[in-house]
Amino acid sequence: MKRKKSDKLWQRALKVFPGGVNSPVRAFRSVGGNPIFIASGKGSYVRDADGNRYLDFLSSWGPLILGHAPRPVVRATRKALRHGSTFGATTEAEVKLGEFILQNIPFLERVRFVSSGTEAVMTALRLARGTTRRQMIVKFEGCYHGHNDALLARAGSGLLTLSGNIAEASSPGVPVEIVQNTLVLPLDDSAAFEQAMEKHGEKIACVIMEPVPANAGLLLQRRAFIEHVLTSARQKGILVIFDEVISGFRLSFAGYAGRENLRPDLITYGKIIGGGLPVGAIAGSAHIMDNLAPQGPVYQAGTLSGNPLAMAAGHAALSCLAERDGAVYSHLKKLAERLKEGFEKEILPLLADREWTIQLVQEESLFWFSFRPQGETSPVRRVDRITPFSASIYKQIFHAMLFRGVYLAPSAFEVGFLNAAMRGRDIDYFIDQLRKTVRQLPGAIKDFT
Ligand SMILES: *Cc1c(COP(=O)(O)O)cnc(C)c1O
Repeated sequence: MKRKKSDKLWQRALKVFPGGVNSPVRAFRSVGGNPIFIASGKGSYVRDADGNRYLDFLSSWGPLILGHAPRPVVRATRKALRHGSTFGATTEAEVKLGEFILQNIPFLERVRFVSSGTEAVMTALRLARGTTRRQMIVKFEGCYHGHNDALLARAGSGLLTLSGNIAEASSPGVPVEIVQNTLVLPLDDSAAFEQAMEKHGEKIACVIMEPVPANAGLLLQRRAFIEHVLTSARQKGILVIFDEVISGFRLSFAGYAGRENLRPDLITYGKIIGGGLPVGAIAGSAHIMDNLAPQGPVYQAGTLSGNPLAMAAGHAALSCLAERDGAVYSHLKKLAERLKEGFEKEILPLLADREWTIQLVQEESLFWFSFRPQGETSPVRRVDRITPFSASIYKQIFHAMLFRGVYLAPSAFEVGFLNAAMRGRDIDYFIDQLRKTVRQLPGAIKDFT
């Protein structure tokens, strides 16, 4: 497989961008080697600068649920661009997308568009603090919410003590004063949550969670835990934010909240909502959302917010998802089922006599390989339960699969995305290449550490 052009581009990129990239994981640091440069994408495939073709399970990290360059999105975006891409004034395009979302997710009353998931979360936090007039926020270890200062925090040694220093920054540059107002709790632990509510409840503005944590593996939560968070927070007057930047429009049109009939106070969206262009959104009841400026006192703004180009792309993509009684979702469900069947039939038997095995963790069109010591079958629901040797096994799988024309996320802690442009034969190809790859891996755990 030729990589000449990619390697040349990489040398150029290294001189232009810090670490050669505009978002860190693209640099392949956790799997090693030089990144490949993608030149184009069509349907379920991407092509790199050297002309190699890959079946793409990255889907741009989630936005491309319809695959690359779906015709309706291309057509709508092209049409919009001819009329001008941004005006900094109100347009019909944003009303159309806003109405469409509210009509199809009946429990939402207001939405505001921004330009990324990070921005949506930033606004949701400010809105929650401005509404409750409280300072503290709660997040869960293993959930990612974009690169907001307040959420670049991990559990500190003083967790749940009265010292006040309850979280520590997970990046230099984040002021200690900011993360001091963030409480970081473990997932899947109702008792820890309860304890935090008792100790700090009256000071907490909001709890933010990915209801389907998909940024540190796929840490599927028990519904009872999420219900507990909702009820227990409510009793203390705390707002609950579901960060559905990945799960929104993916688990169902109305995301996790819609599918499970659970009602958080605010929901953040991103990724799929923009049909591949930069869009994020905050949504909820009019009662809370109307605290945003200019209706209310909580300030928020954006030069490119709701620009007609991104709105047109988002509207075209969401229209495909909503039409024909959810045909896209049933197609994705079939692909996910085929993946599960192929995995159980072709991959699991190969691993039977190894010291390690793979659990295929799935939630609709999301999947993740969880590497476990043979015989350990309990689901991984917390980030500190991810097996340490995962990264080194994954690294080998990643490169072998890339060589075989399958593009997976360049990190063991990222999930795979099925998209609606895939066909059954794509899944079969994936399983077949995975079988050939796994067959060649050593059976002893020590060979990976
Ligand atoms: C991707 C992601 C974000 C951040 O969105 P960006 O558009 O990358 O800023 C926030 N929350 C979740 C759950 C995400 O997956």
